[in-house]
Amino acid sequence: MSTNPEVAPITFYRPNYHVKTPFMRSPEYVQMSTAAAITLGLIPGHMHRTGCTHCLNLLVTYKEGCRANCAYCGLARHREESRDYADRNFIRVDWPAVRYDEVIERMSTGVDHNAFQRMCISMITHPDSDADTMVLLKRWVAEVPHVPVSILSNPTTMERADLVALRDAGADIFTVALDAVTPEIFDRTRGKGVDSPHKWDKYWQAIEWAAEVFGPEKFGAHLICGMGETEKEILEAAQRITDLGGHNHMFAFFPERGSLMEDWDPVPRDQWRRVQLARFIIDYGGGRIDNMCFDEQGAVVDFGLGMDELDALIRSGKPFQTSGCPGRNDEEVSACNRPYGDSTPSDIRSFPFALNARDVAIVRRQMAGEDVGTL
Ligand code: SF4
Repeated sequence: MSTNPEVAPITFYRPNYHVKTPFMRSPEYVQMSTAAAITLGLIPGHMHRTGCTHCLNLLVTYKEGCRANCAYCGLARHREESRDYADRNFIRVDWPAVRYDEVIERMSTGVDHNAFQRMCISMITHPDSDADTMVLLKRWVAEVPHVPVSILSNPTTMERADLVALRDAGADIFTVALDAVTPEIFDRTRGKGVDSPHKWDKYWQAIEWAAEVFGPEKFGAHLICGMGETEKEILEAAQRITDLGGHNHMFAFFPERGSLMEDWDPVPRDQWRRVQLARFIIDYGGGRIDNMCFDEQGAVVDFGLGMDELDALIRSGKPFQTSGCPGRNDEEVSACNRPYGDSTPSDIRSFPFALNARDVAIVRRQMAGEDVGTL
């Protein structure tokens, strides 16, 4: 328990209360996704067609915020006008701040042990982020050993030895948010183009280190679909990561309120569905980009599978569920379902639950180019 009188009396802050958080810093505090806070029983709430998330997504937190300036991100430096860093939105949802002691306590005692199959620590670009992530990880491994930990890294501040140290401290999976899939888009959205420190080559270097240090199936990359790349370009990046032994975690571009790209349109539904399906084929379906065909605009016109095989895959609905680090039941289904992190309940891009027959029928219509949402 903190002895600081400014933080001691209140242990949890609901986002809508707009409590200022100058003294809430990691590793004493973390932010967590709204879905995680609901599942952990910290706030009341209900999410459309999904009772809980199976991944406890945590984010390191500092009053100074992230020092990078990614154009699509709600945590970026240019939003310094928002005095309360912990009140900023990130992947569309609020991330309330909570004492780490309380998280550990609830995980050790109060929560249904099947609820969380994974925990994830998201680093940001901040001088304390690397060291504090290690503190959070070591404590978790010691006190909640039954829930494996993923690290969403910040390659800009890391060297290979940092990956080795995280692995040796007990991290299970290492991920890199590459996000932008060509050097030009990367530079324009998270590098020099927006006065941000990230470099394309360093991100790929971190992915290659992850392949060596964590090994096959134990690393992954986040890719955002819809920031100006072609379907072929994003699938080439996905294939490169799969060839290294990793998996791809796809995000549909959806304009984050307050970000430099807030005026952009979300990724078109048909483009997104094709990319989801092709990514699943590359990651889990035994297919390769070399067997797929693309038109002059780089859109997929042939997935490289037989009609029956392709139909069965679409009917399963799995390619259209949220992709991320696996849970303990099915390695093809992500524990991290990020409810409505890249879309609204009326126009779901990544389904945070298993699709029913009606959902699959809607997806088929979207793939055919029909202008139809998911409600
Ligand atoms: S480094 Fe991550 S948290 Fe920071 S601005 Fe970029 S995407 Fe957002």
